[in-house]
Amino acid sequence: MDLRLSDEQIRLQRLARDFAMREMKPVVAELDKLSDPNEVQKRFPWNVIKEGSKVGLRTAALPREYGGAGIGILTHLLMLEELCQADSGFATHFHQAWKMAKLLVQKCSKEQREHFLPKFKDDDTALLAVGITEPDSGCDTLMPYDEPDGGVRTTAVRDGDGWVINGTKHFIACASVAKLFFVATRTDRTVGVTKGLTTFLIEKGTPGFRIGRIHDKMGNRLMMNAELIFENCRVPDFNRVSEVGRGLQFLASFGARHVPTTGAFGLALARAAFEYVVEYTKSRVQGGKPIIEHTTVALRLGEMAAQIEAARAVCLQAAWMADQPDYDARHGILASIFASDVGPKICDMALQIMGGYGYMRDYPIEKIMRDALMCYHIDGTSDVHRIKIGEMLRGVARTGYIAE
Ligand SMILES: Cc1cc2nc3c(=O)[nH]c(=O)nc-3n(C[C@H](O)[C@H](O)[C@H](O)COP(=O)(O)OP(=O)(O)OC[C@H]3O[C@@H](n4cnc5c(N)ncnc54)[C@H](O)[C@@H]3O)c2cc1C
Repeated sequence: MDLRLSDEQIRLQRLARDFAMREMKPVVAELDKLSDPNEVQKRFPWNVIKEGSKVGLRTAALPREYGGAGIGILTHLLMLEELCQADSGFATHFHQAWKMAKLLVQKCSKEQREHFLPKFKDDDTALLAVGITEPDSGCDTLMPYDEPDGGVRTTAVRDGDGWVINGTKHFIACASVAKLFFVATRTDRTVGVTKGLTTFLIEKGTPGFRIGRIHDKMGNRLMMNAELIFENCRVPDFNRVSEVGRGLQFLASFGARHVPTTGAFGLALARAAFEYVVEYTKSRVQGGKPIIEHTTVALRLGEMAAQIEAARAVCLQAAWMADQPDYDARHGILASIFASDVGPKICDMALQIMGGYGYMRDYPIEKIMRDALMCYHIDGTSDVHRIKIGEMLRGVARTGYIAE
């Protein structure tokens, strides 16, 4: 393993850091405080997305031949950590675009690529989303619970040379602002999800497809999670990107390798809380001296530093491994379990160090804490990741979205 960063990785890491501080930070805090998600939608900072397109961030995962930077998982993780220093919710628009641009290029047919790629590449506001979760199907699809009664219920039924889709997805990140959606559907109800799903690529504006409610979440309020509603939505077979019945495997082909980037959120938010609180303890005076000089505070800071360093090490290692052809999914899952715990834990310690100030919305820890609590509930919950490791330890190979 060689974790020395290349000049290009350092350049992209700096690009993301500068962008986060210069373009994102000035606008996100005010939008985060809006109580109505529909208001956030109205005031969504499209100029920041456009600027992200201009500097090459939005399309960074496209191969160089298509005008991108060809970033792998390790560079993705480094860049995401920097963007999250401004706002993890808004950063997700780039995170999702990086993940799904690769699906578009690597896993879709040449004809599909020629048709859909320009719609993403050449439109500086084009964002991407993936719809798997539904009101009655959460972990069941991701574990997977592979019985006919479990998992995705949104149906796609053959109709001449096309398909008719009906059902509702929810919690979908970036949904209310995205233009292209990878959507998992049920094409066979007599079997479980590993044989009964088929994935389609669906454009915003397709008749019968609309965005429903924008979710009112405790944190990451600029992530724009929303429902996808399909009512007799007819799409040609051309939009079917997976083989019939292999929809979960299609999504797993990018999902599993990107699990280390799930850990990046915990790492990034822990770092954001830590960096803020260290400065705070240098200026807050109680007991006649800056509180960083009190042993109890220093002890907490030392513990926080150790936890963050460990989270960084395990995430970088897993991301590096995910860039190798013989990646073993357990490394990403372990990184995601550890870093997803570290995020909220470090925020909790920062809150305690700051006393009552930490609880006030005038200070950033309250927001970072709300954002960090997301880490337990993305890509199939931290507990499901733990169960996966337990299964691997007893030799059960239940493949799926998290472990290909
Ligand atoms: C901020 C955010 C962004 C998201 N973005 C997306 C997105 O872009 N696209 C998308 O498709 N989804 C997205 N999701 C949905 C996310 O993947 C699901 O919330 C997650 O998979 C859990 O599903 P659920 O919420 O239905 O919980 P449930 O499946 O109802 O789980 C409830 C509890 O039961 C436990 N549990 C479930 N099954 C088992 C089992 N078999 N054995 C033991 N314990 C079990 C879980 O660990 C959990 O504690 C997002 C969610 C959030 C919060």
